[in-house]
Amino acid sequence: MPVVLDRPRFLALACLACIAYVGTSTTVAGAFAADRPLFLDTHVDIPSTYMVEPRFDSGTDTELQVDLGKMERGGLDAAFFIIYTGQGPRTAEGYAEAVAEADRKYSAIHKMVEIYPERIALATTPDAVVANRAAGRLSAMIGIENGYSLGRSLANVDRAFERGARYLGLTHFGHNALCTSSGAMPELGDDPDDASGLTGFGRAVVQRANRLGIMVDVSHSSDACVRDVLAFSRAPIIASHSAARALADHPRNLTDDLLRGIAEKGGVIQVVALDAYVKHDPARSEAIKALEADVARAAGADAFDHDVHGELPDYVEGLKLIDLQYPPATLDDYLDHVEHIAQVAGIDHVGLASDFDGGGGVVGWRDASETQNVVEGLRRRGFSRKDVAKITSGNLLRVWREVEAVAAELRDQ
Ligand SMILES: [Zn+2]
Repeated sequence: MPVVLDRPRFLALACLACIAYVGTSTTVAGAFAADRPLFLDTHVDIPSTYMVEPRFDSGTDTELQVDLGKMERGGLDAAFFIIYTGQGPRTAEGYAEAVAEADRKYSAIHKMVEIYPERIALATTPDAVVANRAAGRLSAMIGIENGYSLGRSLANVDRAFERGARYLGLTHFGHNALCTSSGAMPELGDDPDDASGLTGFGRAVVQRANRLGIMVDVSHSSDACVRDVLAFSRAPIIASHSAARALADHPRNLTDDLLRGIAEKGGVIQVVALDAYVKHDPARSEAIKALEADVARAAGADAFDHDVHGELPDYVEGLKLIDLQYPPATLDDYLDHVEHIAQVAGIDHVGLASDFDGGGGVVGWRDASETQNVVEGLRRRGFSRKDVAKITSGNLLRVWREVEAVAAELRDQ
């Protein structure tokens, strides 16, 4: 336990007591304990009615995996809240709907920081994240998942920046006007064998993001798209929530070659804690898909919606049975990915992303209140204090600063 070697004996004993809690739902650190590393999560989803429906008021005790109380108790200092839009048709109506959905989510995040200014503040620079932590406040950052919500307009990239977005995930499931996705949607007319990557519009968007200082995010993008972005972007890039394909053979995960490519460009891979990407078990995925279809059908809906059907007894009980038959991924499985990426890409190129409230969470890190389990898990695996601090936030903040510096240079040219 290198973490306690340089500390007085009583602190070492106190910390041993802390470690005994790991694996339970009890968290081990006060929210702003000075000696623990700043913890930044790059991917936290929000429901469409976030901060509108009382049950999604993050200042109260919610059923969400992330609310302010859980962040404070678990020492989750900073989170990118996500402007997610599902891919739809590339029509005027489709784009209008996506832009409207994105608008609702920006408003919800702004509302959260306006209502609870003592507890959380918007951070649009890495320095603000550090300053908020020093002031005893949480940080809310904004990331975009799916460039679909930009419509076909570069001006919407500027508008996203003005509203606080600091990373841009080019795609989600389904190819879009920017790039091909790792998960084609034939029902939207996608060709699953489409080996093209970044489109002309996609290149223009990356260029604009580089000039503004928005980090370009390749999670969900196809391998061809990642390669194109690596070649084209002037700034380092990120994978905001992806794991290693060498350990879990899923197209959403990154090959060792792509991990190395992102590292060579100075970027960072934020490892996603989503069961199906951490531990690839097709039988479990099929069982969950079948359960979701059954529950949706029984509720008279066309498709399963976690926000609507996720708490129905049939779903909760069905999931318990599936967990018994096909055990879900654990924090240890998750940390295997972190270690693998640290080895392949280097210790300066790996970080953490929960994907909470978007399907994320593993046994041992099931919500924000359990965040210190991740820190203790990293220490147990022998990562030094310095390396843990890089993984929990240092690497992402370094890349963000670099992206800001490239933007300043490009604007000066
Ligand atoms: Zn995602």
